[in-house]
Amino acid sequence: MGEPLWTIGSILTWTKQYFADKGVASPRLDAEVLLSHVLGKDRMYLYVNFDQPLEAGELAVFREAVKKRAMRVPVAYITGRREFFGLPFAVTPAVLIPRPDTEVLVETALRRLQEADSPLVLDIGTGSGAIIVSLLRKLPTARGMATDISAEALAVAADNAANLGVADRLELCRGDLLTPVAGLAFDAIVSNPPYISARDMAALEPELGYEPRGALAGGADGLDFYRRLAGGAAAHLKPGGFLAVEVGAGQARQVAALATEATGLAAAEIVKDYAGVERVVVLERRH
Ligand code: SAM
Ligand code: GLN
Repeated sequence: MGEPLWTIGSILTWTKQYFADKGVASPRLDAEVLLSHVLGKDRMYLYVNFDQPLEAGELAVFREAVKKRAMRVPVAYITGRREFFGLPFAVTPAVLIPRPDTEVLVETALRRLQEADSPLVLDIGTGSGAIIVSLLRKLPTARGMATDISAEALAVAADNAANLGVADRLELCRGDLLTPVAGLAFDAIVSNPPYISARDMAALEPELGYEPRGALAGGADGLDFYRRLAGGAAAHLKPGGFLAVEVGAGQARQVAALATEATGLAAAEIVKDYAGVERVVVLERRH
């Protein structure tokens, strides 16, 4: 007896059920994304070729991918890529997988930088580079700096900057928060720092266990990085410049309050994400 003949259609049906049994949140979508990755085709191809049999080699590679996903490894770490702001970013387990919520931070910064001539923008904790690379793509006269404490993350950001054509306008620096930019002032500082509280860290979805802990954990109440940033940011903003940070659900008011108390920055706006959660806090240096 040989192996049953698997087709695109039948293996998707089987895999969807297997993933569902393992508690995967979007079993059919994940099966499709992984199969199209293995076949090197887009998802539409799967739909018009349900009856196509899989070759032994394809089947072997797909099985490995399915095994990983069943262990709740995130899809993006299996495929090595994730779409953000309409751009294809490379990702590895050294970086946080960029989230759709973070596009709100990019849009907010873009709106405020639209009129600026050759702005200088700093991204703190850049990870994959998703935020700063997206900004530089949309702002052709802008230049950027991006920092991260993780050298491995910076290597991924460098790849993305090169692949997406902004490497000549971006400087990457390793170091703790604002330390690498001593003496410099920016038109805008953006950051999506780690903001998950100790209590929430203890109850993460299995997928988040594969992401770098140093990209997620924000101390006891999740606000450690905002406290440290608030203290230093004003000195690194030009007059009229702004700091825009992503925050976790329920943190926006506290972050706005602690930043204005600590620094003399003025809270300018709070922007909601697509789910209605207050997601981005903007603080301005008014003089
Ligand atoms: N900016 C990326 C994004 O939005 O997808 C990644 C954000 S991730 C939530 C936070 C990033 O901050 C991680 O890449 C982590 O390595 C970095 N980080 C953590 N502690 C840091 C520190 N003390 N100084 C600079 N970066 C830090
Ligand atoms: N948005 C991420 C999550 O909750 C957390 C990222 C962060 O700590 N900045 O999955």
